[in-house]
Amino acid sequence: MRLLVIEDEQRTATHLQKGLRENGFVVDVAYDGVEGLQLARIGAYALIVLDVMLPSMDGWEILNQLRQAGVRIPVLFLTARDKVEDRVKGLEMGADDYLVKPYAFSELLARIRTILRRGLGKQEEVLRIGDLEIDSRRHKVTRAGQNLYLSRREFVLLSCLAQSPGEVVSRTRIVEQVWDINFDTGTNIVEATMRRLRAKVDDPFEKPLIHNVRGVGYVLEAR
Ligand code: CA
Repeated sequence: MRLLVIEDEQRTATHLQKGLRENGFVVDVAYDGVEGLQLARIGAYALIVLDVMLPSMDGWEILNQLRQAGVRIPVLFLTARDKVEDRVKGLEMGADDYLVKPYAFSELLARIRTILRRGLGKQEEVLRIGDLEIDSRRHKVTRAGQNLYLSRREFVLLSCLAQSPGEVVSRTRIVEQVWDINFDTGTNIVEATMRRLRAKVDDPFEKPLIHNVRGVGYVLEAR
């Protein structure tokens, strides 16, 4: 799994990168806020470890911009700011967790794993795209008021597309989020699962919501 660390303090960043790599993660580092936001928006990250005080744009603003853009990648704040108000602010803004420096690496790792186990991070209870409704807490999907019965994998695949409606989700990102980064992408399992998903979500209805962008990926959008 690929993680992004946005941290301007070189030593902390290096320490984090090294430790996370040793635990099997692929880790990119951004040392300033604007660069971090750009990477966060285009990269297929499973989680972002985010510092608050950063050059060019602070962590609050990065989180704010990501959430406003509908990007739901889980965010763990790692910061020296230890006031209760700061923690509350971070969590209210949609961060998934908040850890204060100095921190124990083992605790950070445990918290990252907990967030990743929760799946796709903190989500809206019900996502709506056109007449499609995805209730992530109850694993319930309806379209035009009709229940759609999706397998677990189909549900995760739909949720992956629904994380950023209107944006093309690359095949690579789908493989990483829905299967595993080490998954053999030479097979057609993505296409096969996508076909089954579309048969349920789109085929019975007049207007398709899942669109194929040839050679790139898929987009979930009411057109
Ligand atoms: Ca800092």
